[in-house]
Amino acid sequence: MRVLQVSAEIYPLLKTGGLADVTGALPAALARAGCEPRVLLPGFPSILAGLSEATEVTSLHTSFGERTTLRLGHLSALGGLAAYVIDAPALYDRPGDPYLDESGQPHADNHRRFALLGQAASALAHGADPRWAPQVVHSHDWHAALANAYLALSGAGSRNHVRTVYTVHNLAYQGLFPPYLLPELRLPASAFTIDGLEFHGQVSFMKAGLAYADRVTTVSPSYAREIQTPEAGCGLDGLLRQRQVLLSGILNGVDNEVWNPGRDPHLVARYDVARLAGKARCKAALQAELGLEPEPKALLFGIVGRFAEQKGLPLLLAVLPDIVRLGGQLVLLGSGDAGLEQALRDAAAAHPAEVALRIGYDEPLAHRIFAATDVTLVPSRYEPCGLTQMYGLRYGSLPLVRRVGGLADTVVDCTLEDMADAVATGFVFDSFDADQMRRAVRRAFALYTRPAQWRAVQRRGMSQRFGWDDAARQYAALYRELVGP
Ligand code: ADP
Repeated sequence: MRVLQVSAEIYPLLKTGGLADVTGALPAALARAGCEPRVLLPGFPSILAGLSEATEVTSLHTSFGERTTLRLGHLSALGGLAAYVIDAPALYDRPGDPYLDESGQPHADNHRRFALLGQAASALAHGADPRWAPQVVHSHDWHAALANAYLALSGAGSRNHVRTVYTVHNLAYQGLFPPYLLPELRLPASAFTIDGLEFHGQVSFMKAGLAYADRVTTVSPSYAREIQTPEAGCGLDGLLRQRQVLLSGILNGVDNEVWNPGRDPHLVARYDVARLAGKARCKAALQAELGLEPEPKALLFGIVGRFAEQKGLPLLLAVLPDIVRLGGQLVLLGSGDAGLEQALRDAAAAHPAEVALRIGYDEPLAHRIFAATDVTLVPSRYEPCGLTQMYGLRYGSLPLVRRVGGLADTVVDCTLEDMADAVATGFVFDSFDADQMRRAVRRAFALYTRPAQWRAVQRRGMSQRFGWDDAARQYAALYRELVGP
């Protein structure tokens, strides 16, 4: 089964969030599941730098006059994975991140930069590479979503038997652009309807995926249900209900090569479920590194992620004084919303010995935080899957999460009955409400005073495996349903 995976990011070459972790781990797991995966990526400098033995496949005639070359090579950072990369420096080589410029605004030509990704996918499905053509084009998030529209509208499916799968990693980021761009995007006016890619008078890349793909998936079973409701549907719940039979949730995995406290090169000491002593050394080292009180018994909470309202930072700000009052400590790593960053800076300044804040993106520090902390906080308003709670489980840092999306699918609260049944793995609260989170925090403190029970919950979480092989088997089954065995 030849599968072309199309995405804007891939770990370890380019990552702004969970999308990259997924697209970085899935190809190898798909190969183990019997598929022949290749990836298609935009030529951001770090991606081109990671491409070896590149040859030119074809030049792409874009709809907006850019000269671009499609190259094929291998990504040695991903075990030699075969990758098509769009070499178009005028579009991809510039300051900022893949989506935003240095001032935090979307790049003005994002419609072109990501339409090209869809156009290149369509070209490959139409035989641009005479040696290899995909049977399935699997695109991820709005950046790659136009691939589905180009393929459906060109009749590629019926002619070439190329099928499409579109995975939503976050429904809230939709890629909306003004309608006068339609011709530039090489999209017919007939597609600009409520059943096509029109969304409240705008062109929606997200809708191109939802409306035109043969199958739509998202990254957890709970999120697949939630996005069919007005509360979590971001205005697209009607379409998702309509396409319900084609929609499924496949839970992300954890890449055991990257996230494994027994082998993690970023840690001062390694540990595993049978030998936990190294975790205490990691805690002491992080307290020293970040200037926290060197107190081994202080319950250490951590949060790694985007500082966005979605991630529940307002709740955390409300609960932070309680964490400190109860003798806990808190470490935060992330960046995002300027107002939230400032509020967190103020909170950290008010409690310098108990709260440490690092603004920025730091992969090694993220590993050190999961290893050092006792509790990983993920109090999200919504969470398609969430990876940090799974990293917390793996590293013996009990997740404290809101019962939503993938968080609900991966963490079991320490209620008395779930403790008795030996299934509890963390702390879960229901509504997006500071009081509820506060109570969950108090449960964490209460359990911490019972070391034997704490250890039992910790060991259970560490022994769980959210492997990519399970997810890959489900994706492979979906591809087979579309293409045949
Ligand atoms: P998102 O909604 O941002 O995709 P996920 O939990 O699915 O959230 O994935 C976030 C990924 O990005 C995780 O691998 C997390 O460790 C990583 N991450 C987020 N922010 C940072 C940061 N500031 N520094 C290092 N890693 C980060």
